This record gives sequence, structure tokens and C-alpha cells, in this order.
Amino acid sequence: APRSVEELRQAFTGFFSRHASFPHQALDSAPLAAPGIAGDDSLLFTAAGMAPLKDYFLGSKSPPWPYATSIQRCLRAGGKNSDLDNVGHTPRHHTFFEMLGNFSFGRFAGASPGAWPHGPYFKREACQLAWTFLTEEVGLPADRLMVTVLHGDEDTRAVWRDVIGVPDDRIRFRDRDDNFWSTGVSGGPCGPCTEIHWDLAEMTPQHLLASEGEDARWLEIWNLVFMQYVLGPEPAGRGPVRPGEFAPLAAPCVDTGMGLERLASVVQGVASNFDTDELRAICLATADLVRGDGLAGSSTSSDDLAASPLVRVIADHSRALLQLLSESILPSNIGRGYITRRIARRAVLAGRQLGLQRPFLAELLPVVARSSAAADRARLAAALPAASAIITMEERAFAEVLDRAVRTLDAHLRQPGFTGTLGAEAIFRLYDTHGLPIDTTADLCRERGIPADLDGAQALLAESRLANRQLHLAADAAGGVDSAVATAAGAGPGSGLPRLGSVLKGWA
Ligand code: ATP
Ligand code: MG
Ligand code: MG
Ligand code: MG
Repeated sequence: APRSVEELRQAFTGFFSRHASFPHQALDSAPLAAPGIAGDDSLLFTAAGMAPLKDYFLGSKSPPWPYATSIQRCLRAGGKNSDLDNVGHTPRHHTFFEMLGNFSFGRFAGASPGAWPHGPYFKREACQLAWTFLTEEVGLPADRLMVTVLHGDEDTRAVWRDVIGVPDDRIRFRDRDDNFWSTGVSGGPCGPCTEIHWDLAEMTPQHLLASEGEDARWLEIWNLVFMQYVLGPEPAGRGPVRPGEFAPLAAPCVDTGMGLERLASVVQGVASNFDTDELRAICLATADLVRGDGLAGSSTSSDDLAASPLVRVIADHSRALLQLLSESILPSNIGRGYITRRIARRAVLAGRQLGLQRPFLAELLPVVARSSAAADRARLAAALPAASAIITMEERAFAEVLDRAVRTLDAHLRQPGFTGTLGAEAIFRLYDTHGLPIDTTADLCRERGIPADLDGAQALLAESRLANRQLHLAADAAGGVDSAVATAAGAGPGSGLPRLGSVLKGWA
């Protein structure tokens, strides 16, 4: 059975592309930089395997094959499906990850029945294919799997129970929040889904099971979406659809996505995606750097250090950075490049907290290239020289921002009127105008033995986030962030322009 991440990639593609009844067309991963949809930041990047295939689901383009399979490079680091804040805090979320997928296109016209004796498949075959891959090809014990089904989707329940033989207590009904998949954007195909989860009870400490319950016990590994609707307004082949309304798709489709790193953690029997072979290599290299000149003394072993959240953040972010830079998505204050900048800055801050003062990311990028998909390695290796130069420049520039913020802070502390406690407004201003995160200010104050009104600053931050959200809503309505900023800026005094500024140049 496949074990390493690379073996899993090959097993997945092999299983679907060489399947006797449903031979899937193997597709290369599309770029991370998706064509994008105005007003929706989350769609600037490919966040799922279905994204590049959307037109085949909608029927606006004719699929050349009834089935396809891909290993799609994905990024969830901005917009509404962002996992940026999860990284390092959960064992299962990354910004950059790979999604294994198989797809069936209902619109396929069957031009070559010889090559594809069966037409497009739907619920029954999709569930059977997934179950067979997991239990036979990968060899996972069926009694550690659980499936969720949308309330009311009796067809899918019947497939799991009567066709595949999953016991009733391993089939759970969930509501639309969990088991109805949609991009949430008009024109997006959507539909009910069924998800396959892995039982972590054996490896989760009792107290976590008690305190965190179901989420700690079950690891979501595979999402099977039955595309049956389109969210209006957009023609769905059956006349116009009103905004916000669902209309049936002319031909239902199947779209599945499984996190490669999560599957690997299951197969390799480890508690975190970061302990699977490819990511672990990057974590260990990061730990070595930290031991070389960071704060952690030689008493901390590389193993312990490699498992620390900050090291995991750096490992995750360096993967995302090499991918972004390899597609020439350079750090900038707007658009996709803003995500590159934000990720780079977070990596630098994590490094600083570990005692890495000098630029260090360029030293990790070659490790990332070596610890990537075999099919992607040459492309990443070719990108290394430019990516290293750019990331080092970005680290230097951000170090200056940080140093300036620290000087401002120290000047503030020396002012005659300083009360002895750093106030909420001052902390917020450091964040808003200098880009100094509140956590960093907290650390600096701790170092200096000065109390700080962190709660007050968080409240101001929450207030400004609300303002930002309203700005984004306004931007959607007005057709772009620029016009929304112009509108907000014209709102006169007290409209909070400095805060709006942080939407454009700031980061959190
Ligand atoms: P979760 O609930 O764990 O956040 P999700 O429901 O948001 O996952 P889907 O949109 O259903 O995820 O994506 C399909 C699969 O992709 C998931 O079942 C999971 O295996 C994987 N996946 C999703 N987000 C991430 C991520 N941030 N990092 C790694 N794998 C992910
Ligand atoms: Mg999620
Ligand atoms: Mg989920
Ligand atoms: Mg899901």
C-alpha cells in the first residue's frame, strides 16, 4: 500500500486514470493564480480542484471527457475561506496544500462511446470509487471511517448504507452549513455533499476528546460534492436565474476533493499533517536554522522544536511563498501580491519570535523545492534563484518597518507625559500606521517591563475590522475596492481614513 506523500499521489492518479469502468483523464494542476472574480478576494487563488473546471460543471464549455482527475495546488490564505489564522494552531490546516480530486461531467456528450462505455457517474459511483480507493487501494480499515450526509439526502444515505454497507451509527446527518457546498458567489455551481471522516479516537488524549468533542475525534479527509444547482444570477441553461436563487443545473456533476496532507497523516499514523514526510523535512530544516542562531538553546531537541507552532507556521508559509513566487506573484500592497506580502511578513514575525533576526527564508526554499511533488520539482527549482533574491529583499524591507515601529514605541515610552502604561490608542496606532501586530507590541512591552492595555487595543482592532468589513461590502456593491475607498474617503471628517488606509497597506 502507498505510504509516502509521493506514493499517495501516484496511487491516486493511477487508481482513477486506469480505472476499468471509469477511466479518468489525468489533468495537470492549474496555477494558483485563478482568473479571479471581481469583488471576491478568495477567488484570486485556486482554493479547490473544481475551480479550473467550473465551466464544465456549468455547461458553458463542453467537457472533452466524461471524467477527470487532478492533484490541484490550492491556497486558502485570504478572503472568506482563509485558513491563515488556523495554521500552526490546528494540525490539519495549511495555507498551501494539494487537493486530490476526481470529477464527473454530466454534460459529456459521449462522442466516443468506445473509450467510455459508461456515461457520467453520480452519487452511487462517486461514493463507491472513494470507498474503494480508501479501503482497498490505501488499505484503511473501514471501521475507522464515518460519513456525513446532508439532512434529507436519502439517496446518499441509501448508497452508504445499502450499497456499501456502512453501519447506521457511522452515517451522520448534518445541516447545510456543513454539507452543502457552494463558492457563495453568483454563477457558482453548488450542491449537497457527503464527507468522509477518519476516527482519531485512538490518538487523541482523553482530555481533548472531552473538551473539544467531535472535532477532536474526527478528521475530515474527503468531500464529495454533488453539483446540482447554480447560484444566480447567471443563466443555467434554463432561462434566467434571479440573484441569490438556486436553479437546477442542466446536468448534475460530481466534484470531489481530498487533502493530500491529511490523507498522508492518516496513512503514516501521525497526529499532524506537519509530521508527514514532506512537511516534516521542512519543519526539521527550520528547527535546525533556529538551533543555529535562534533563541532556543541547544537543550531543545530538533524534534521538539520542529513540533512547535511557530516552526510549523514558517514551514507552511515557506511552501506557500515558493509556490506564489514561482508564479511571479511578487509581494505588493494590492491584489494577489498582497497575500504574498502578508504571508512573508507572518513568516518573518514567527522567525523573530524564535530568535531569527536575519533574513532566513531563502535558506528554506531549496528544502521546500526538494520536498514537493516530483512532477513540480523542476519548475520550483528553476524558480529558486529569483524567489530567493525577492524574499530576502522583502525580509529586509519588513525588518526596517519593524525597527521603525520599535523606535516609535521607545520614543513614546520616553515622553514626559507617559503614564507608565501603554494605552490602547498607542498600541492600535502602532498597528495601524506602522503595521506592528498587537502580539508583537505585547512582547516588546513585556521585554521592557511595561504594562499595556492589550484588551483595549483588541477592542479598537475589532471595531476597525468591522469598518473594514463594511468597506468590503461597499466594495462589492460599488464594483471594486478603489471606488469604495473613494466613497468612504469622501464621507468627510471622522470617517476614519487612517483605518481605511490599513485596508490597503496594512495587514494583521
Ligand atoms: P475543514 O472543515 O477541515 O476546514 P473544509 O470543509 O473547509 O475543511 P473542503 O472545502 O471540503 O474543506 O475541502 C476538501 C478537502 O480539502 C477537505 O476535506 C480537506 O481534506 C482538505 N482541506 C481543506 N482545507 C484545507 C487546508 N487548509 N489545509 C489542508 N487541507 C485542507
Ligand atoms: Mg475549512
Ligand atoms: Mg469542513
Ligand atoms: Mg469540507
